Amino acid sequence: MAQHAHTHAPGAHEPGNHAHVEHTGESLVAAARAALTESGEQWTSMRESVFAELARHDRPVSAYDIADNLSTARGKRVAPNSVYRILDLFVANNLAMRVESSNAYLANSHPGCEHDCIFLVCDECGEATHVDDENVSQTLRALAKSESFKVERPVLEIRGLCASCA
Ligand SMILES: [Zn+2]
Ligand SMILES: [Zn+2]
Ligand SMILES: [Zn+2]
Repeated sequence: MAQHAHTHAPGAHEPGNHAHVEHTGESLVAAARAALTESGEQWTSMRESVFAELARHDRPVSAYDIADNLSTARGKRVAPNSVYRILDLFVANNLAMRVESSNAYLANSHPGCEHDCIFLVCDECGEATHVDDENVSQTLRALAKSESFKVERPVLEIRGLCASCA
């Protein structure tokens, strides 16, 4: 299994004073399963397959790509709509994150805690590195609030070139 791209640079972007855990591989799948079942949802084999597809990608992956891969793996057609429904459930339960500017999804490496994740999206290779910074997100939330804007969810994405492509 590929190493997940969601990592914090050592010492940088500390997401605050709490027991923040970033998961990869099997530990990520276990943490996602725990988070979903704790919220009263079932960890079905289909949901597990969709999550495993997300988790093995370093880059944001679209519902269509997941549906294609699962159709091949399962030997029968998996409809993109059913993948979308599962991805919505994952996003609502903090198991996955939607990268808006890529119209695609990433496994959430910290299903145990919620953050306004910041994505650095490479225009060349498509990789989306993920960092958390509570100061940045709280400043943006306060700014919106000062305009009497009710914040649903900040979308924090920076487009550019990753270290390998720059
Ligand atoms: Zn955290
Ligand atoms: Zn995050
Ligand atoms: Zn790149």
